[in-house]
Amino acid sequence: MGMPYKTLNASMNKKAKHRVLVAGGAGFLGSHLCERLLRGGNTVICLDNFSTGRMENLHHLLRFDTFSFVRHDIVEPIDFAVDEIYNLACPASPLHYQADPVHTMMTSVLGALNLLELAAHYKARIFQASTSEIYGDPHVHPQPETYWGNVNSFGPRACYDEGKRSAETLFFSYHQQYGVDIRIGRIFNTYGPRMRTDDGRVVSNFIVQALKGEDITVYGDGSQTRSFCYVDDLIEGFFRLMNSPTSIQTPVNIGNPGEFTVSQLAEQVIAMTGSSSKIVYRTLPVDDPHQRKPDITVAERTLGWRPTVALTEGLKATIAYFEHQLAPVSKELAI
Ligand code: NAD
Ligand code: UDP
Repeated sequence: MGMPYKTLNASMNKKAKHRVLVAGGAGFLGSHLCERLLRGGNTVICLDNFSTGRMENLHHLLRFDTFSFVRHDIVEPIDFAVDEIYNLACPASPLHYQADPVHTMMTSVLGALNLLELAAHYKARIFQASTSEIYGDPHVHPQPETYWGNVNSFGPRACYDEGKRSAETLFFSYHQQYGVDIRIGRIFNTYGPRMRTDDGRVVSNFIVQALKGEDITVYGDGSQTRSFCYVDDLIEGFFRLMNSPTSIQTPVNIGNPGEFTVSQLAEQVIAMTGSSSKIVYRTLPVDDPHQRKPDITVAERTLGWRPTVALTEGLKATIAYFEHQLAPVSKELAI
């Protein structure tokens, strides 16, 4: 995995190197992005409040003398001279973003504002990690970027969904009013190594439950669908979008169009882990979207991007990661 991008890596390495700020860089996606940028020869400043992010995700990056990190909450203003900004700072799992809904909303809105101010000041290009939650519980399937969505402004998911929608609006407004160079990636469910064992999202939950021999908790009847993208594919999509021409300043879906029911995922994980876990059914959370699948025509046409990692292949790598995380020896090493 990662190898198909060798040619692109080589061409990108010839380009001028940048001083890049990655907000949320200690998280699951952010740590993969920092690694990718450092390998490309860039100087990377990882900014994180370490709420869901972990130092453990950054250990392997400390050997780069072009890497630094700062503990900071993007709700507060910052000032760093930078050429590029990636905004990934925001809890992404419903479990975590619903724990402090006010702070989640403020992270999306005030955080975006603070980073956009920075981008305007230093004339830096800025990327927003937006989400398929923009589409809510969609009435159009699959979801193209032109679909405006079906979102509840008042439910338990609203702090995240409406926060991310407001952030997109702020990005657009800074572009329109101040000419800020923006890129917006609408990310669909992404999984892979460096997710937390207590992340709470479906892929990590099912794998951890299967490896521990615990019941697999399917919410609802398991007929709801999601489209799962492996992290390497997603980071490649980020990278291509950030380095795309200035004409692409509208949101772009980045996700894997392969669509699976939650029950299918549970069965796949049980089969691949050889687990004796049983499937149990729990209440479907309020406003849980019934279906989700990206239309990636825009990404294919404008970025030449499409995912290359099949669900079975990505699950294999993710299961191996969690096996290592859960092994007693890895716990001892982590101390
Ligand atoms: P994550 O929780 O692992 O990472 C989020 C990171 O942001 C963590 O390191 C956390 O400590 C940091 N953070 C949170 N609030 C902050 C704040 N106020 N100030 C500074 N740092 C803060 O989640 P992830 O899956 O890596 O998601 C990264 C981004 O991608 C998020 O913005 C998320 O909304 C977006 N996204 C992810 C997915 C996905 O499936 N992984 C899907 C859609 C959108
Ligand atoms: N889900 C589940 N069991 C779990 C965790 C999640 O059945 O232990 C379901 C959840 O209700 C949703 C889907 O899996 O229908 C994806 O949930 P996740 O939290 O990963 O992402 P999101 O709901 O934000 O797409």
